[in-house]
Amino acid sequence: MPRATRLFATVMLLMLAVRTLEAQQSPSYEAYAIQYGTLANFPVRGLVAGADTARRIDVAAMVWLLKAPGGRTVLVDAGFYRDEFMARWKPVNYVRPAQAVEAFGVPAGSVTDIIVSHVHWDHADGIDLFPNARIWIQRAEYEYYVGPRGEALQSGITASDAAMFARLKASGRVMLVEGDDQEPIPGIRVYTGGRHTYASQFASVRTRAGTVVIASDNCYLYENLEKHAAIAQTFDAASNLAAQARMAMIATSPKLIVPGHDPAVFLRFPIVKPGVARID
Ligand SMILES: [Zn+2]
Repeated sequence: MPRATRLFATVMLLMLAVRTLEAQQSPSYEAYAIQYGTLANFPVRGLVAGADTARRIDVAAMVWLLKAPGGRTVLVDAGFYRDEFMARWKPVNYVRPAQAVEAFGVPAGSVTDIIVSHVHWDHADGIDLFPNARIWIQRAEYEYYVGPRGEALQSGITASDAAMFARLKASGRVMLVEGDDQEPIPGIRVYTGGRHTYASQFASVRTRAGTVVIASDNCYLYENLEKHAAIAQTFDAASNLAAQARMAMIATSPKLIVPGHDPAVFLRFPIVKPGVARID
């Protein structure tokens, strides 16, 4: 091989190696919203501070799937399934969250990680449906609601869910995140400050479309963002508004902020399978 050709080939190989390394270090994810049920006729006043008491909305119960091709399979939140919640909330068009994920071609056992935005039943109850996932939750959230032995220290979590968390923690699967602006998983960052619960977190993820923000209940509906209205359930409305403004700074475009319960997610993004919208 002539010297110039050899040099060229070496340079090309090096460039390829660097690019592969970069891809491994900060993967780009596919992002999906997966609806597993609907809570019909929900009062908007329970979601948007100051909304008209007569307004009702069919809210979407969702999980968010972040998939790095050849890499991690991550959920943000895991929905609910226990009988006590089914009886109390009577969801319609419901399938178990694990089933909804599997219908999209992702076996529950292949989910590597779950980022729990907060401990509420409709986000955290389903984490034990995914037998191999590591569970990422803020340390302050865990200690405030669950306690070291699963005592359910505050309202906002049931005894059954607190016991589940404690069981998973004892088995080594619960990873406690230490505060704001952390990157627990390469390419996925988490942020506190939304104050939906004591230490609720939201997530950002690198995708082909740029940085997507998965707000979960730190922003319930598009209306919160568009009217600059705090969520109705928060420890601190001013902090919540600041967190919503921060989401707009983090996301590549305001369109790439995904609220926690808005059925319009499935109108604003393309549907790739029934109940599944591609975000990126
Ligand atoms: Zn919720």
